[in-house]
Amino acid sequence: MPDFWTHCLDHFQGTLTDQQLNTWIRPLAVDVEAEKVVVKAPNRFVAQWVKDRYINQIEQLARAFFEQGYPIELVITEAKAGAAPAPAIQTEAKPSEAPPAPRSGPVVIDDSRLNPLFNFDSFVRGKANELARAAALQVADNPGAGYNPLFVYGGVGLGKTHLIQAIGNQVLEKNRRSIVRYIHAERYFSDMVRAIRTKSFEDFKRKYDSLDLLLIDDIQFFAGKDRTQEEFFYTFNSLIESGKQVIITSDTFPKDLEGIEERLKSRFSWGLTVMLEPPELEMRVAILLNKAKQEVETLDEASAFFIAKQIRSNVRELEGALKRVMAYARFHQQPISVELAKEALKDLLAVQNRQISIENIQKTVADFYKIKVADMYTKKRTRNLARPRQVAMHLAKELTDMSLPEIGQAFGGRDHTTVIHACRKIEELKGSDLTIRRDYNLLVQVLTG
Ligand code: ADP
Ligand code: MG
Repeated sequence: MPDFWTHCLDHFQGTLTDQQLNTWIRPLAVDVEAEKVVVKAPNRFVAQWVKDRYINQIEQLARAFFEQGYPIELVITEAKAGAAPAPAIQTEAKPSEAPPAPRSGPVVIDDSRLNPLFNFDSFVRGKANELARAAALQVADNPGAGYNPLFVYGGVGLGKTHLIQAIGNQVLEKNRRSIVRYIHAERYFSDMVRAIRTKSFEDFKRKYDSLDLLLIDDIQFFAGKDRTQEEFFYTFNSLIESGKQVIITSDTFPKDLEGIEERLKSRFSWGLTVMLEPPELEMRVAILLNKAKQEVETLDEASAFFIAKQIRSNVRELEGALKRVMAYARFHQQPISVELAKEALKDLLAVQNRQISIENIQKTVADFYKIKVADMYTKKRTRNLARPRQVAMHLAKELTDMSLPEIGQAFGGRDHTTVIHACRKIEELKGSDLTIRRDYNLLVQVLTG
């Protein structure tokens, strides 16, 4: 019999999105005591959210699980991060103090390695980044005092670097004397190697230990670099313990990071973990219009919609496409229009159209398993239909540019978490079941010609 919390996790897995699960439920720890169930939240933010939305469900689950009612006590285990006395540097940050001495612009940028263009004003909001953006704003307002560390994860080109640099820029704007440093994990690694070689390691350490805000980007690059991880572990602890803010990005959820020590991964979840998702259509349009405005270029909505519909994967590619259209317009001295955009993106779209369509995948997989194409969309869940459907979803994720929600949609309006589950399942089976592995590879070959 699973323990109570595993039972709860299973339940929530079925009802919440990955983002909700990872943000609100996974960080909780639960103790079943003689008289009550104690739910421990890592910080006030999570506690409040859980209290408002999930505590009733946990209570109901407990009643069903133990076959009796248990009072649920919600406690906050913030001690590790927030309880340290506020260090002097924070007092300095209070607005009641005399205005801080201004630093000259370029020097600030050099010190912090921040790109001033990555700010909150230029960061378009949408469903895909709602929670991450809200958390980032909170941290920028109150560095070191709330969610520490803030862990931002998501695929390439979705705005991780932009968002965390926006926090750095805002913190500096409010208090020029804050010591902020942005660093890519790879750079941290090479700086450290150099410091060791040139015997300036103590300086290196001191530099990091004295920061008010450390932004460390793409932490997955630490994989397998044990010494770097060890050093970072100490720096991380020392910063958090003295109430300094740490912000981390990665391409995956902390627990899924490979080649990273357990103790680091567990610490990454002390604060708040938020995800950036691929932008939805409206957001892609808004980003294009915004970007065009920055470049003082006229872009009508129809053209923006056209480009946004074609380029779905991430913001970086979206920006690339817009640049191409703008360059094409300038070269031909014509205003941007749908026709012109179509022309400018011809090569790109040709490549895309040659790509495998979801209909093609569904049909091929259905034929292969001798089921009806319609069974790809039905709600029927018998094994002989569910497995092919999962294979098709996984193929769609691997071979098309479609986002997870888009794939779910194409399979009879299923939730994106169903797609994630399908992909995981098939990956797992490919490891353990030779037939599935062979079938899968065969299908890939057939589809990619
Ligand atoms: P990541 O670090 O996740 O790979 P970046 O932060 O480098 O992605 O973003 C890629 C590009 O997309 C950058 O030019 C960034 O300014 C832009 N971008 C990403 N998200 C947004 C957004 N929400 N609004 C405006 N621009 C964005
Ligand atoms: Mg980045």
